[in-house]
Amino acid sequence: MRIVVVGGGIIGTCFALEARARGVEVLVVETTGLHAEASTAAAGILGAEAEAMTSGHDAAAGVRAREALIHWLPSLEARTGVSVRFARRGTLVLPASANEHAEYTQWLAGHGPSSRALDAAEVESLQPALARPAHGAFLFDNDGSLEPARLGTAVTSALRIEHIPVYCGDSVRDFVRSGDTVCGVRLESGKTLESDLVVVAAGAWGAKLLQRAGVRDSAKPLRGQLIELRPRGGELRPVVFEGKRYVVPRGDGRYVVGSTMEDAGFDRSTTPDARAELVAFARRISPIFHEAEEGAHWAGLRPYRDGGPRIGATPIPGLFSSFGHGRNGILHCRQSALQLADAIGI
Ligand SMILES: Cc1cc2nc3c(=O)[nH]c(=O)nc-3n(C[C@H](O)[C@H](O)[C@H](O)COP(=O)(O)OP(=O)(O)OC[C@H]3O[C@@H](n4cnc5c(N)ncnc54)[C@H](O)[C@@H]3O)c2cc1C
Repeated sequence: MRIVVVGGGIIGTCFALEARARGVEVLVVETTGLHAEASTAAAGILGAEAEAMTSGHDAAAGVRAREALIHWLPSLEARTGVSVRFARRGTLVLPASANEHAEYTQWLAGHGPSSRALDAAEVESLQPALARPAHGAFLFDNDGSLEPARLGTAVTSALRIEHIPVYCGDSVRDFVRSGDTVCGVRLESGKTLESDLVVVAAGAWGAKLLQRAGVRDSAKPLRGQLIELRPRGGELRPVVFEGKRYVVPRGDGRYVVGSTMEDAGFDRSTTPDARAELVAFARRISPIFHEAEEGAHWAGLRPYRDGGPRIGATPIPGLFSSFGHGRNGILHCRQSALQLADAIGI
């Protein structure tokens, strides 16, 4: 069997590796460069439980995805010699109000003892560098983070080791059909690639592409901006969340602060307002950021989709998809690859 994967982000490339591990011939087509869009813009939080509590995602699915990724990473790192700098540093959620505290307490009651509720004094003794939180905090010890750029490097290296062909700098324009069935892709360059199956893993562009096969989908880009800060002293260990904002320690003096959630179409430019807002947020969370050096400021397009990612068959024979992972595509990259491979039956 031969599969063409459209999209060289982390979802497409992790699937390509899994397909090859299951003995399938696979190749990847990518408009720009591998992992050049959302997949390296990401903060790298593996916040299965914190995200479930604060955003209403399925906690069991998130935990399954987190553990699948964490168990896969050592073999990826050993094979490629690239460390993704994973650390199970925990996530600390700060409720923004007494109401939110009550809401989270109620959520936790239905989800078993996976978190510790901390009062302000406990937060202070655990994390002296944090500003005293008005409404306590919730700590999820098992969540973690990694560096997405390094994950991209490791996966790129694994693709090379497995001799998986990658067509970078060319875009899929259309699908080749035999009757109703998709049996390949046509590229902007005019080249045609034939295959038994096509997988659309084109992130924020996924819905646009499916539309060319006559399949409607609601996925759309949701811009997120991030900034790197380097304080002169002090240290935060866990990832700290408040609402949709967060601070992610890299463990070497660098912190990533994010993120905005903006409906800006396919525009991934950064804005001075967002930069100022992210810096102000970090300073409110911890005084260590009052004396911080400001580093890079960047933006990426989350593939946002109501109801979560679209993984599996489409109504068109021969055409499959895996996109729409929103805020959690790094967390879900390994599990989505397994899920899609199972759905295809390889
Ligand atoms: C600011 C920000 C912070 C984030 N933080 C986190 C986080 O902390 N934790 C987490 O789990 N997730 C996070 N995410 C989400 C995560 O980055 C995404 O869900 C994930 O990267 C999506 O991967 P993807 O492969 O589907 O998309 P992408 O990485 O965008 O890849 C899709 C690829 O498809 C290519 N493509 C599009 N159209 C075509 C075509 N016609 N032909 C060929 N190629 C095409 C594009 O060029 C692109 O490279 C964050 C995202 C952003 C933007």
